[in-house]
Amino acid sequence: VIKEHYRNDYKMFESSISKDFKTILTMETELRKALKEGQFELHYQPQKNIVTGSIVGVEALLRWNHPKEGFISPGTFIPLAEKTGLILEIGEWVMYEACRQNKQWQDEGYNPIIVGVNLSAKQFHQNDLVDRVASILEKTGLDPSYLELEITESMAMSNEEDIIQTLEGLRDLGVYVSIDDFGTGYSSLKYLSRFPVNKLKIDKVFIQNRKQNEAIVKSIIHMSHSLDMKVIAEGVETEEQLTFLKNESCDEMQGFFYSKPLPPAHLNTMFQKLTV
Ligand code: C2E
Ligand code: MG
Ligand code: MG
Ligand code: MG
Repeated sequence: VIKEHYRNDYKMFESSISKDFKTILTMETELRKALKEGQFELHYQPQKNIVTGSIVGVEALLRWNHPKEGFISPGTFIPLAEKTGLILEIGEWVMYEACRQNKQWQDEGYNPIIVGVNLSAKQFHQNDLVDRVASILEKTGLDPSYLELEITESMAMSNEEDIIQTLEGLRDLGVYVSIDDFGTGYSSLKYLSRFPVNKLKIDKVFIQNRKQNEAIVKSIIHMSHSLDMKVIAEGVETEEQLTFLKNESCDEMQGFFYSKPLPPAHLNTMFQKLTV
């Protein structure tokens, strides 16, 4: 069997993989270089309270500012970073930079908001994740209640003892945890009610095909509230979508209708200064 496998791999390699393989190696080298040379940037997308209209948070979204290619979106390089394990270093940088930036905004006198950081599966499954988060908060001076970690259903919905421990550790630390792209993965209602999770983020596919998914969106909103969680809609692009969400008592919204993800300097004008 092994021989058979090997022969097949070899054939594939000969025929078509060769070029892709080279591209992957190049990309891995480039990713390492990007990290070393500071080619990564975070853009931030505002999240609004639907009732008051004020900005309550921002989601940090990774951008690779490649010297030749320009901005490369995370969808194209995160999967490779995940596969090679480089995501751990990249993710650590993201968390540090997002906390640092949020603290800076607070120091500049803006109304404190929450910064959301996406965690990859590898990051979430690190044994010392809670310590790493604690250490970043300490180094940057950001209060834990202004950091929210986004995980996906597939990372959380399991009975494994260490997952529950990680989630409880994060809760005890005082950071928030939300479930990203909610509705696209496999959720177990049993775990959902038991897990210390603060917020569900309704995936944008349900918002954008709203008419077709009306019942689903309503159910997610009502379920969140019954479980004492907040709920945010992702990918809100039209006024019509926003009105629907408002009528259904969705707490928060994020999407192009209000703002695209922006470099930090562009956000200052949208933030409110604390009045003294
Ligand atoms: P996500 O966490 O679900 O982030 C939301 C994505 O939807 C972002 O894409 C955002 O630009 C996009 N978006 C926001 N509003 C709208 C809208 O109204 N319409 C449409 N069509 N799209 C909207 P982006 O920035 O390309 O990120 C894609 C994914 O890459 C993210 O999905 C997240 O899973 C991953 N990602 C981004 N940054 C990081 C990171 O620092 N670490 C990890 N592990 N993953 C990241
Ligand atoms: Mg996200
Ligand atoms: Mg999402
Ligand atoms: Mg996602």
